[in-house]
Parts: sequence; structure tokens; C-alpha cells
Amino acid sequence: MLIAGNWKMNMDLIAARQLAGALRNSVEASEGVQVAICPPFVALDAAYGILHGSAIQLGAQNMHAADSGAFTGEVSAGMLRSVGCRYVILGHSERRTIFGETDADVKAKVAQALAHRLVPIVCVGEQLEDRDAGREEAVVADQLRGALTDVRLTVPSDIVIAYEPVWAIGTGRTASPEQAQTMHAFIRKELTNLFGADTAAAIDILYGGSMKPDNADELLSQPDVNGGLIGGASLVAESFVALVQAAVRCQ
Ligand code: PEP
Repeated sequence: MLIAGNWKMNMDLIAARQLAGALRNSVEASEGVQVAICPPFVALDAAYGILHGSAIQLGAQNMHAADSGAFTGEVSAGMLRSVGCRYVILGHSERRTIFGETDADVKAKVAQALAHRLVPIVCVGEQLEDRDAGREEAVVADQLRGALTDVRLTVPSDIVIAYEPVWAIGTGRTASPEQAQTMHAFIRKELTNLFGADTAAAIDILYGGSMKPDNADELLSQPDVNGGLIGGASLVAESFVALVQAAVRCQ
């Protein structure tokens, strides 16, 4: 299980230090449940200083696919490693819809993350109109194949998948446990085609989309739901800690 907080473009340095400190003091190491926070780039170094040696690991929200160069405003995998990141969120729906990221972009970033021993949290998920038209599985399959075909993993924990139905992100509307489980099982089947059954069985598939302490248990207790990617509820220490506790209960 992995509970990962996506802070998005929230928290200035002072607020980030406070939240990281509060989490450091209240999240206990638990076998079987990994915990990560993904603050904005400018807070990563400070967050690492606070979290180093704790049960909480660090992730970034995006990166560029190149090693270095004339890419104004971008951040490389090596830079993320140098400030202590273990994870990087790739292909979040906000990157895809607002910044025009394609599956090919995500694929290039996945390869670069793996080459730098960062664990990509690869986000997939359908828009509401896709689900209404009954094509949610086709959309997610295209995203998975587009980003992961020919990717080679050494161990299943090299990568994490996050299923985030776009209609559930930041909307307060959550996929039902049945909807989540059905899609997660479908994703696992696609991962089996890509990586083989043994690897697919051991890859963490997170659910993301308005996960909160009051709906976490029923989502996290689904057999193919191996954790959560948490937006809004990761910005408040009490609710993020409650989500970690839910994961410990449900694993
Ligand atoms: C997200 O953006 O990854 C997310 C899941 O957001 P929220 O929890 O706020 O829906």
C-alpha cells in the first residue's frame, strides 16, 4: 500500500515546513504501508530536511524528460534525486488537460524517471463523457499502453499506477468502491499483458479522486486498490494522517 499526497500548487515555504513537520510527528512507520508527500518543487529541499529519517518519503509532481538543457522553467529527474525525491507523479490529469501532455510525453518521462531510479506514479483516468459513453476501459487501456509499452521493470516496486477518474478529482464526487475495483482489476489485466502476471500482481495501483477519511476504508479494502493518491485531503495533517491509518487498517 502507498498513500501519497499531491499538494498541487498549494503551500508556500512556511506552510510547507509546518505541514511536513506536523506529518513527521504524527505518521508512524508501518510495515506494508508506504507514505509519501509531493510538495511543489520549491519546497522539496526543505521538506526533505524535515522528513529525512522519518516514515515519510518525498515525491515531485512532474519533471522533464531530458537530462538538462535549454528548457526554461523545467526540472530534471537528476535534480529531483538531488533533493531527496523517491517518487514523481507523471501524467496527472491536470498536466494532460491544462498543459497538453500526451501519452508519448508521459512515456518519455517514465523512461527518464526509471533511468534515474525515481519511482513514477503514472496517472490514468477517463473524463466523465468517456464513462457516460461506456468507453472508460478503452481510454485507460490506451493511456497505459501509450505510456508503458516497452518499459522494462527490474522489480514491481519500480513503478506505481494511479487510477484517477477525472470526474472525481477535486469534485467531492468519488468513484464507488465497485467502480474503483472494476477499473483496478482491468488495469491489473492490462499490466499483466505489459509486464507478466507475477509483476502485475505486485504493482501498487492507487485510487485517486476525492478520497477522504470518511470514504477511504471502503475504497482501500477493495482487493485491487493498493493505496491512494490524495489531493485536497493531503493539505490538512489530520485528514492525511487519518488516511494513512485507514491504509494500515485495510492492508
Ligand atoms: C489528485 O489531484 O490527484 C486528487 C486525487 O485530488 P483530490 O483528492 O482533491 O480529488
